[in-house]
Parts: sequence; C-alpha cells; structure tokens
Amino acid sequence: MTGTSYPGKYVGRFAPSPTGPLHAGSLVAALASWLQARAHGGQWLIRMEDVDTPRCIPGVDAIILNQLAACSLHSDGPIWRQSDRSTQYQAALNHLVAQGLAYPCACTRKEIETAQTLPLARHSAAVYPGTCRQGLCGKTARAWRLNVGAVIDTFKLPVPTPWSDALSGQQTQNVAAEVGDFVLLRADGLWAYQLAVVVDDAAQGITHVVRGADLSDNTARQIVLQKALGLATPVYRHTPLVMAADGEKLSKQNGAQALDLSNPLAALNAAALVLGLPAQSGSVASALAHWVQLTRQG
Ligand SMILES: [Zn+2]
Repeated sequence: MTGTSYPGKYVGRFAPSPTGPLHAGSLVAALASWLQARAHGGQWLIRMEDVDTPRCIPGVDAIILNQLAACSLHSDGPIWRQSDRSTQYQAALNHLVAQGLAYPCACTRKEIETAQTLPLARHSAAVYPGTCRQGLCGKTARAWRLNVGAVIDTFKLPVPTPWSDALSGQQTQNVAAEVGDFVLLRADGLWAYQLAVVVDDAAQGITHVVRGADLSDNTARQIVLQKALGLATPVYRHTPLVMAADGEKLSKQNGAQALDLSNPLAALNAAALVLGLPAQSGSVASALAHWVQLTRQG
C-alpha cells in the first residue's frame, strides 16, 4: 500500500491476461479503470489473470507492468496472480459442492455440441444441455459445473438475471437458457475464468469493475456465482472496444500490435479518445490529472 487514504472506499482493478503485451484496446480498459478509481478517490489494483496457464507467455506479465508504468499507471497494492490462488478457488468449489450447487460432468466438447438443437452463434460456446445434472451414470468426471437452476431456486433469484451497467444501463441475461450450467473447474484441470474472477474480485474487495465491452456477457454468470457464494456484486462498467480495420474487436488473437510506448502520451491520447476525453499536450502526469478532473465531472 502507498499510505494514501481512500475515503471513497472505491476499489477498482485492471486484470490483464499475460498472453501478450498490452495493445491499444487493453490500454483503454486500463486507463478507464484507473481514471474511475482516481475520480472516486479510490484504489486501483492490478491482477494478472494467468489462470489459463497454457495460453500465458512467461515474462509477459513483466512487459505489461512496464507498459503500464510507462503510462504512469501503478498498482496501489501488491500484484495478485491467479496462478497463486488455487487453494482459494478449490475452497469456493468445495463450498458449492457441499451446498449441492455444483456437480461433476463427464461430457466431451463434442458431445455437448452434438446435443445442440440451435445453430451456434459466431464466437459463442455451445449451451450445456445439463446431461450430467442428475448423475454421471458410471462415467468419469472431467469437469465441474455450477447448477444454475439450483442457485436460482435456492436464493430465489430473478430470471433473467438483471444487472445495470454504469455506461449502457439495464441489461439482462437468462443464464440457464443462454449459457447453461457453466464450468467452474475445466476438464484439463484448470480453473475456469468465471470462478477465478468472482473469487478474486471479492477477496480483493473490488467495488467497481471497469473492463472492455467484450467481457460484458460474462457479467450475469458472475452475478449468479456471487449469489451462490454469498459474495457482494460490484458495480460494472464496460468500456467501448477498439476495432481493427476488419471490423473485428482488436485482440491479441487477431494479431493486434503491442503498444508503441516510445511516446506514452500519444498512446494515452488514443485511449482517451475512445473514452470521449480530449487529447492533451504536455506531460503524462498533467494529462492524467486533467482526465481525472473531467471523469469526476462525469
Ligand atoms: Zn456433462
């Protein structure tokens, strides 16, 4: 900790995956989350989402931290790494299993896709048909899933799951129908992103999640999981995406260029523009201070 006080009790975070250096799109989420935290007199934490270890590249976490430091974006607390947090994720899964809210699944991806009655939308995973909800019928468990219907019944949750985005307003998703019982522990033994994020956001006392709009459709699942684990739901704010020339979202997967930080102010100006903030000249420090002021004014 830096010794600064945070009277607003706002705790925000930026949680990159160390699968590649930051690109223009990820800097938008970093800057937006930092500005919101500072505008609320709050704390800003960096968390490495390295739970999907085969996709992570050794050394990239240090590159990302250097990129953020070049933009004067520093974590107000220790950097957490999801790869250190298996014990906590296991405890959360045990808690769900003990309450009858999670169950083992023996299905292969092919079996789940074959059971689909509707064609798959682009980039979306098959809805899990609930095959193993009543038991494995002698088959071997591969993964663990959340019993969404049981969570909704137990905690008398509304369907569809409603939530309010600080930027785009009221949202809903019917998790049971549109996603199905989602995975908590994967067949390859890795913890699922949803479980890791929910456990870590709560453990770090995150009050406000600011992240890219590409993660928006995870929110309802995360809220259901928070209810199942008895955890608070943070405020969510999803920032606009930077689009590549082909109209696809800019991502490491479609070969987005790593940020050129020979001129950090230019990179920050480009990110600020996406957030509707005016470009600044002068120093990085004065630009950030001005944007904090504008963000505070809303
Ligand atoms: Zn199954």
